[in-house]
Amino acid sequence: MKVAMSLAEVRDLRHQLPDPFGLVPTMGFLHEGHLSLVRRAKSECGSVGVSIFVNPTQFGPEEDLEDYPRDVERDMLMLEDEKIDLLWTPMAEELYPPGYQTWVTVESLSQPLEGAHRLGHFRGVATIVTKLLTAVRPDRVYVGQKDAQQARVIRRLVQDLNLPVEVVNCAIVREPDGLAMSSRNAYLNPEERRAATVLHRALTAAAEAYAQGERGADALRLKMYEMLLGESMAKTQYVSVADPETLEEQWGPVERALLSLAVFVGKTRLIDNIVVGAG
Ligand code: AMP
Repeated sequence: MKVAMSLAEVRDLRHQLPDPFGLVPTMGFLHEGHLSLVRRAKSECGSVGVSIFVNPTQFGPEEDLEDYPRDVERDMLMLEDEKIDLLWTPMAEELYPPGYQTWVTVESLSQPLEGAHRLGHFRGVATIVTKLLTAVRPDRVYVGQKDAQQARVIRRLVQDLNLPVEVVNCAIVREPDGLAMSSRNAYLNPEERRAATVLHRALTAAAEAYAQGERGADALRLKMYEMLLGESMAKTQYVSVADPETLEEQWGPVERALLSLAVFVGKTRLIDNIVVGAG
């Protein structure tokens, strides 16, 4: 595994690697969710690179940029074990030089859901992903359905900017009790960790109602709320039944839908989602 920090290094090393080259962008503090993307990339690509960068521009002023968990040494050992070809740990001062003022904005898709509660978040995401993709020009980029809106935003920006890269969406990896793996789960104390399963329980309750024939978007949202209200440590920020393509909130009957939610458990903000319906 080669390690690059500067843009010059990463470009140089990438050119020496066999195509197709797959990139897995991450913010580090790796877990099995990240590794599932790495393994999928390894199985489909001639060479694989991982980037680790806690991108400051996607965090709001009140968010957890400073506290975000980091352990690059442990991440490096995990990636060595996966036998990836290239690790890139970009330098913030090179990606955002003094006087920086160029941004990528994906308009409508960035507005609802996470975008409505994390102002400027997707401008930061779209900008950094564009910069990573144009720097190393991967043939494929691997993203997780855990961040469903982010995956949708990335697919759209790749289409709109005509970037020659295939976006590969990967399924959510969960703990045995259903909690979606996330670097932020490290913030949870044991009691909160137990309560955090309510996100998956709420999604499952709605998905079961859908499987039994319920199609009303309101009724599906209500199913999720009911389960969330039963967990006293959970504070719901939003619950949504949206079109999986446009991310527009649905009000009538739905055939295919993205069920998603954001919930505070203690001070930790957690998100999760599930798609119901064919396709
Ligand atoms: P992050 O380090 O949180 O920015 O995540 C890096 C990539 O890993 C993103 O594409 C995430 O959607 C994906 N990811 C994070 N957690 C999971 C998970 N539990 N299952 C699948 N993919 C995940």
